[in-house]
Amino acid sequence: MKITRSEKYQRKRAERAALEKAEKKRVEKYMKMAIRQARLAGKKGEVPVGAVIVKDGAVISRAHNLRESKRIATAHAEILAIEKACRKVGDWRLTNAEMFVTLEPCSMCAGAVANARIKSLYFGAYERKGGACGSVHNVLENTGLNSNVNVTGGVLEEECSSAITAFFENKRNKIT
Ligand SMILES: [Zn+2]
Repeated sequence: MKITRSEKYQRKRAERAALEKAEKKRVEKYMKMAIRQARLAGKKGEVPVGAVIVKDGAVISRAHNLRESKRIATAHAEILAIEKACRKVGDWRLTNAEMFVTLEPCSMCAGAVANARIKSLYFGAYERKGGACGSVHNVLENTGLNSNVNVTGGVLEEECSSAITAFFENKRNKIT
């Protein structure tokens, strides 16, 4: 049977749509894992931010913000996730790794992502006051760190930002 040009085009378009759908599902699956991490942080009274690192199709580390518990300024979810991943891989280079984090990283964390040579960064909620991946600064655009990180923001944005909003509302209610 002869395939017409229009049929070919339709088929290609359907294939592309299927691929995009599968990729969206994949990204959301890992973001949901990061959201679970954020909830763990929230339960400990920490600002609920969670991060997951995936390399070659496997989750190599999960972490959540522990700044209050550890009383360490750098204990952001992303830094802790990078440290765990480096220990697991046995290398400071996390080549081909992807990070999924519920909130747009700050300058420190965005710098760490570039330093770790992470390939792609996916974040959920935008951090309008201090986000360093487009909102206030764009650290990853020109890192000077010899690395190129692909950044995608707004993954499951509503779910990610509502976790943080709820946390602060709760906190405010407790104070007043
Ligand atoms: Zn940070």
